[in-house]
Amino acid sequence: MSPSAVVWDPALLAYDMGDQHPFNPVRLHLTMRLAAALGVLDDVPLLSPEPAGAKDLYRAHSAEYLEAVQQAPMAGWDVGHGLGTEDNPLFTDMHDAASLVVGSTLLGARCIAEGRAQRAVSIAGGHHHAMQDRAAGFCIYNDCSVAISWLLEQGYDRIAYVDTDVHHGDGVQAAFVGDPRVLTISLHQHPFTLFPGTGYSSEIGAGDGEGRAVNVPLPPHTGDAGWLRAFHAVVPSLLEAFRPQVLVTQCGVDSHREDPLADLSLTVDGHRAIYRELRALAERWAEGRWLAVGGGGYQLMRVVPRSWTHLIATVLDHDVTPDVPLPVEWTDLVRGVAPSAEVPPTMSDGADVGYSPWGDGLDDAVDAAIRDTRRAVFPLHGLDPDDPRD
Ligand SMILES: [Zn+2]
Repeated sequence: MSPSAVVWDPALLAYDMGDQHPFNPVRLHLTMRLAAALGVLDDVPLLSPEPAGAKDLYRAHSAEYLEAVQQAPMAGWDVGHGLGTEDNPLFTDMHDAASLVVGSTLLGARCIAEGRAQRAVSIAGGHHHAMQDRAAGFCIYNDCSVAISWLLEQGYDRIAYVDTDVHHGDGVQAAFVGDPRVLTISLHQHPFTLFPGTGYSSEIGAGDGEGRAVNVPLPPHTGDAGWLRAFHAVVPSLLEAFRPQVLVTQCGVDSHREDPLADLSLTVDGHRAIYRELRALAERWAEGRWLAVGGGGYQLMRVVPRSWTHLIATVLDHDVTPDVPLPVEWTDLVRGVAPSAEVPPTMSDGADVGYSPWGDGLDDAVDAAIRDTRRAVFPLHGLDPDDPRD
């Protein structure tokens, strides 16, 4: 069994945009407590990150932007760069907190590159909307882009990034849009209906990186079966063709049916199925190297802790069966934080995650998305977009 690294430190809870903001760090705290209560973390050392330094932050961000983030809490107004907005409010020590998030994902990447682990998970990471010179979508610094850039510098030249958050992974796509060494694949709710309004299947990268950006915009209420059908119709073939040396995955869980910000209608069981598939693909096509990060997810009590406990468990090969009851010590903790919360009884939503593979002659809105994406990029990878065997 290959060793896997879990990066975590309670100091990561300092990335806190306020009690009224959806991106509440309690979701990370409750996840780690649930994973521990279920025994997922037994005998697993937690690796404590250092904040990323300027040299690494410059991989993804301009010096002017870094300066603005550092000054913003003191300036307090009119700082620009997407800072101080409703989505990205200023908070004390935001530069330090955001740098630690980057350091967390970077430590996971380092463990993999140095051969200390085959897989690593950084649930505090996944800030995929942050742009070179601007905060966006609750994200200040883009840990995904920094880690991928760092991995490229270590000599890897084929890195695949798969983004399963309900929102388009726009910041990571933008960072590597002309770079043939990085394949970005994002499955997300259709940009007509959701922030950030990008991620059309026609966005395929540019120049030497043409075909290296892949987007699957899915209709609202796609659900587990449709999502998994789309994933299987697009992702495995591209990974087989690209043969990445490392698979980086952004595992946002705002695709859940109870998420207050989006409408893709997946379940915790669907999330678990996705993680198991990502693991299998890393084993099969990425030499076993898998760096998993968190991301969005705003049903703080009922969804994020269960889904990301499944994520951590999957990375560690400590898989948790869906019908496992939630430990009393954890449900008591949740009731202490949120007395009116209705806590689910098990690690499952009771959903069936069966799906029918694409190519069976049906033609609904999900199939139309699949077809558009395949036709946009498959020929650029030597694959036949209309042949279900590819
Ligand atoms: Zn999201």
